[in-house]
Amino acid sequence: MTEPTSHPAPRVAIIGGGPSGLMAAEVLASAGVRVDLYDAMPSVGRKFLLAGVGGMNITHSEAKEAFLARYGQRRAEIARLLAGFDADALRAWIHELGIDTFVGSSGRVFPADMKAAPLLRAWLKRMRELGVQLHTRQRWLGWTADGALRLATTEGEIAVSADATLLALGGGSWPRLGSDAAWVELLQARGIAIAPLQASNCGFEVAGWSPLLRDKFAGAPLKNVSLRLDDEAPRQGEFVLTANGVEGSLVYALSAPIRERINRHGSATLQLDLLPQSPLGKLQAALSKPRGSQSLAKHLHRQAGIDGVKAALLRELAPAECFNDPARLAAALKALPLTLVRARPLEEAISTAGGVPFEALDARLMLKQLPGLFCAGEMLDWEAPTGGYLLTACFASGRTAGLGILEWLQNRVD
Ligand SMILES: Cc1cc2nc3c(=O)[nH]c(=O)nc-3n(C[C@H](O)[C@H](O)[C@H](O)COP(=O)(O)OP(=O)(O)OC[C@H]3O[C@@H](n4cnc5c(N)ncnc54)[C@H](O)[C@@H]3O)c2cc1C
Repeated sequence: MTEPTSHPAPRVAIIGGGPSGLMAAEVLASAGVRVDLYDAMPSVGRKFLLAGVGGMNITHSEAKEAFLARYGQRRAEIARLLAGFDADALRAWIHELGIDTFVGSSGRVFPADMKAAPLLRAWLKRMRELGVQLHTRQRWLGWTADGALRLATTEGEIAVSADATLLALGGGSWPRLGSDAAWVELLQARGIAIAPLQASNCGFEVAGWSPLLRDKFAGAPLKNVSLRLDDEAPRQGEFVLTANGVEGSLVYALSAPIRERINRHGSATLQLDLLPQSPLGKLQAALSKPRGSQSLAKHLHRQAGIDGVKAALLRELAPAECFNDPARLAAALKALPLTLVRARPLEEAISTAGGVPFEALDARLMLKQLPGLFCAGEMLDWEAPTGGYLLTACFASGRTAGLGILEWLQNRVD
């Protein structure tokens, strides 16, 4: 009788300690796999922590169909990832870590104290208990000639072999937090076509504000306004005037279609409604009232509540003739043409569009051309607005990749 061959425990290398890499590490280590996780930074989860600074919006409570629609052209691919770990599963997982969640008035979901740090601390404690080996200050540089991973460490370069590797390297935004997109060239050199990385959830520039608007109103918020692009329904919210254009939640929500329009036509013109709650007819009637010796600025303030940055933007964008004609002035207030000419640089964006196309990956998120090499997180080619959709898909993709690696390790022919 021959002894069964005893295989050593498989070993998986994960490069990147953001939410997607950490989630894959948890899945694998829970199944008894030896996991070594490498990150270039002195600590993991830096972008995750930053996301918690203004209030960590980790997912959204809206109904499934509305939720999935947020992923636009990649709805079908992200739906497959979320089928294994959706917003409810994510909340249950957070609760298991001992952190409560709550639903805000907008339907957004937050951890109890709105911070990322307690959650990350509890998660890393669990990782240690599972035996995940975290190696920080270790930058992945590519592969050696015989296929080992090249890592730059504080003691010089090392080569590491693993049974399977997950790349969870993030996109190209906020590179000082670690995700510098150096992986793009490394994967391209291995024959993987990468969809160009572009800014998503980002600000946009105008051709140039007048010095008055720029110097006096950069940083001023425009509240209770709406923006409309082409025939889309107008979206209400707020944005901020910047020295060279606009940024803020309402602009971020429209960033994908604005960017695509600029890519195709060189610019995108939105209709800005400064008073979405006021019907045009009512506004016309109010502005048609005699103003006597009152200045137009005072008249606008009295009759329409327009002053400050809204009045300045009206002066900047409305045709000069409309200021003598109440009907045209009312129409301008309801539909100011705001022309945007370029996105702010990727480094400043909240997230990244483009990356490793799903077509290059199998259902387990393994690169079809490079068996044993998996990818997850923001480095994949998808985008979504803010609202917790980014993190939810990152967690779900990390989980899919972790389970995919397990399946691959079990089925591979030794
Ligand atoms: C200001 C800001 C606020 C945000 N707020 C929210 C929010 O409220 N809700 C939400 O859903 N999303 C938010 N996001 C987006 C969210 O944080 C990201 O989508 C998410 O962190 C991406 O996870 P990831 O694991 O794919 O990559 P990352 O979190 O970017 O992690 C990638 C990791 O890979 C490491 N790495 C990269 N290259 C190498 C290399 N060559 N060698 C070794 N290590 C490497 C990096 O150091 C990093 O730790 C926010 C983002 C920003 C910038």
